[in-house]
Amino acid sequence: MGVEFQLDHQDHHKVEDFLARQSAGVGAITLHAKAAKYQASAAEAAIAAGLDVLYDPRTERLEYPGLTLNGLPGYTGEPYDLDRLVARADERQLLVDAVLTAHPDVVTIVTPPHFLVRDHRSAHLNLALAEAARLATNKRVRPVLTLKSRLNQELSHEIVKIYTEAGFTELDLRFTPLGSENDGIPKIRSAFATARLFRDAGVRVILGRSGNVGQAAFALGHVDGFSVGVGQMEHVDHAADVSRQNRPPTLNADGKKAGGTWQGVYLPGIAATVSMRRAKELLGHSDIRTRLGCRVDSCGASLFGPIDDYRTHYLHSRAGDVAALIETPEAWRPKLETDRLRRAIEMRDLVNAAYRKGSDPELKTRTLHSLVDGIQEDVRAAAA
Ligand SMILES: [Zn+2]
Repeated sequence: MGVEFQLDHQDHHKVEDFLARQSAGVGAITLHAKAAKYQASAAEAAIAAGLDVLYDPRTERLEYPGLTLNGLPGYTGEPYDLDRLVARADERQLLVDAVLTAHPDVVTIVTPPHFLVRDHRSAHLNLALAEAARLATNKRVRPVLTLKSRLNQELSHEIVKIYTEAGFTELDLRFTPLGSENDGIPKIRSAFATARLFRDAGVRVILGRSGNVGQAAFALGHVDGFSVGVGQMEHVDHAADVSRQNRPPTLNADGKKAGGTWQGVYLPGIAATVSMRRAKELLGHSDIRTRLGCRVDSCGASLFGPIDDYRTHYLHSRAGDVAALIETPEAWRPKLETDRLRRAIEMRDLVNAAYRKGSDPELKTRTLHSLVDGIQEDVRAAAA
């Protein structure tokens, strides 16, 4: 239980060093689809700390044409036709076998192949893949369910029913799109309600790829944990992920692939992960530096700690917040989280009003406001 970190290509050394020293608040780490073979030491550090280790097969991309998917388990060079896959148990088995083979031995919880759930048919396809994976391993199996954030009630009840009847006791639940800075209350309410349906049916739920929304859901007791990347993957947007992958890579001045994965700098004071350039500018301002920055561990020794080692800073910030929630009696957790979000809203307003240069994007506060209001609603409902 707690926050889970999904590793990118380059994160494993920092994660290994961090977990070797502390792991309070952390529940698990997830190894990268293509880089897992270089991440064994980080996985061993996680195991030694008593955490779970997962592997991310990224099969949700396999149905789309034109993506560069070399190295992903199950990739055949052709996009998967899901209408064909629903009818062919043998082809599903090939995919399941490929994904299981790609799991390093060190993994403690298996992730079955999965695709976006659009309707009853794709829900049942995902269930069939998860059941086939469970038959092929003795380890725990935690299916990923990526659902539309505005899921109709009937389908969400059906999904809860088929997964619990099949005996699954844990799930990685993702809602798309959810967790950007522009979510209204209904969307958040609906995601929390679906998580609640699973919890009430006895399923352990991790809200996948979800920063502030995941932490709020955890504080409210709607989920058992949530996952983030290291300075990224704090929200889910399936369509945007696919279309970004679909564009040819932009080349930088040296003719090398530019960009790649975007990892930002987390500023606890505004509860936001911003670009390196923006973080430097904001932390460089003596008016607001102390309210935005961090004095935890190595950050205490450097004015620019969050920038100098943004990965370690990200790990101790997220883990620290969750550890603080776990140490707080359940009844007081919503207040602790609301206070954090309110401070972040105030700071974002202040930055927007006084510390924003012309070209800087405004720091939006809609999702944070929705979370604060949603928490209030929840606390009132619990008291009634
Ligand atoms: Zn820090």
